Order: sequence, then C-alpha cells, then structure tokens
Amino acid sequence: MTLKKILIVSGTHGNEINPVWAVNQFSKQNSTIDHNIEYKYIIGNPLAYERCCRYIDNDLNRSFNFNKNNSNINSYEISRANFLVEKFGVDGSDPCEIAIDLHTTTANMGTSIVMYGRREKDFCLAALLQNKFGLPIYLHEKDEKQTGFLVEAWPCGLVIEIGSVGQNLYDPKIINRFLIIMNSLRDEINKLKNNQIILPKSLIVYVHQGSIDYPREKNGNINALIHPERIHQDWKPIKKGYPLFIDMEGNTKTYKGEDTIWPVFIGEVAYKEKNIAMSYTKKEVINFSNQICVDFF
Ligand SMILES: [Zn+2]
Repeated sequence: MTLKKILIVSGTHGNEINPVWAVNQFSKQNSTIDHNIEYKYIIGNPLAYERCCRYIDNDLNRSFNFNKNNSNINSYEISRANFLVEKFGVDGSDPCEIAIDLHTTTANMGTSIVMYGRREKDFCLAALLQNKFGLPIYLHEKDEKQTGFLVEAWPCGLVIEIGSVGQNLYDPKIINRFLIIMNSLRDEINKLKNNQIILPKSLIVYVHQGSIDYPREKNGNINALIHPERIHQDWKPIKKGYPLFIDMEGNTKTYKGEDTIWPVFIGEVAYKEKNIAMSYTKKEVINFSNQICVDFF
C-alpha cells in the first residue's frame, strides 16, 4: 500500500499563533506515520510568525494564484508560496495529497470548515467533520477579489477556522479545539482509508455571496460601526430591515435585500484592510454520494 501524505499548515497568517502551538503539541504527542498515512507539519509564514504580524509583503493565503501573472516577484509571500508548492505540492519533492490549513479569526464564528470551490474530495473531508461535530461549512467560491488560497494549490484541502480569539493571543480553549479537530480528522481519515465511512446523503453549506464594507465618508474614513445587534452574531440569519451599522448620530443602516443571508467574519480585524465589515452567505443543501469517500484514496 502506498504511503499517503497529509500536510498540516499553521501560521499561514503569522499572528494566528494558537494553531502553531496546537500543531507543535499534536506532533509531539502523535507518531508521524499512522495507518500508512504520513503527517507533515509546516509553519506557512515563518517570518511573519517570528515578527508577530499577519504577513510581510502580502497575504500568503491569497498568494497561490499562479495563473495570475504575479508581477510582485520580490514579495516574500509569493516566493514562500512557490517554495511550499515546489516542496509539498503533488509534483513537489515531498508530495502531499491533502493540505489542511489552520486559522483563527477574531470574529465570533466558533469552529468552522472553509471550502474553496466544489471539489468532491473536499466535500468528503468536510462531511466527515460535519457528521462528527455538526460544524458549519463555509463554501467560498466565485469571488474575483479574493483568490489564491493555499489549499487550492493541492488536489484536496480544507481550512479549519476557529474563533473568536485575538491576534497574537494564546488561548488554551482555542488550542484545545484545534487538538480535538486534528485528533478526529486523523481518526476519520483512518476510517476513510479502510472504507469504514458511511456519510449522510446531503450536506448543508453556507455559500459565499459577497462582502459588505463599512459605511465610509468621501475621504474613505469609516463613519459607522457594526450595529450592536449584529456584532458577534456570526451565522445568525439577517432578513430585510435588520440593522447592520449605526453611525455617531444613532442612524441605523439596515439590510435591504429580499433574501435571507447568513453573515460570517463579522468585524474580523484582518479584513478591515480588505474593506470587509462582514461577508455573507446563503444556505444550500448539497446532495452527496458516498462513492466519493469510497474512491477517496
Ligand atoms: Zn488566517
């Protein structure tokens, strides 16, 4: 039986330090090879991690878009993305079939799974975790402003996103949640390898629709806050007329769309520079064939 390799990445954003701790602890407590699966661990952005910042030149988790003619070849993150793919990519020197990228958010999202696009194997992995823990799945797709995510450079991969926790703040509860997820993922992948998995026929996913910026003055300054009824209310549906923002005079800006939306990354600190006060999703049920899991390896 061939040895399969799974890459576990932490510190893709250098100021998200809990996953780095969790992976370090996990690697000390578990053997590297288990049921013919080898686990590889890497800090995505070691320089940013060392400097306690999200990135050096640009966001590493938007730097894997190799189709785009990336002019910024002097960027630390572009060269780091190239290094990671040349080493651990499927055609790399130490090829891995799956990449799991661990992140934290300052938003009150709890533990969630992020998928990029609708790849069958990703659905299978996401279903394993949803089945076990009932975790929400955020399906990110078709956003031209946000591309080049790390896991997209592998044939199969997911992001595990846990919050809320501050940047550069160690939180043992968050670390514990990462350890639970990594242990479960390992158990489930072993079962998957032995064809012991039967999954439900459908999956609920929250499909990315777009993002909402803060209200701004003409000079670009933010002039309203996320409304007190909205802040920290990730995953809770928003209907027409629900408040989104409130300005200094107490004026409320409401949601005007007809369709119910589910917000995520509300007030995420790192997205302020991306002009995102929150992203929003719509719920979708995806039918799912267990055959995907049978054929996984
Ligand atoms: Zn992150």
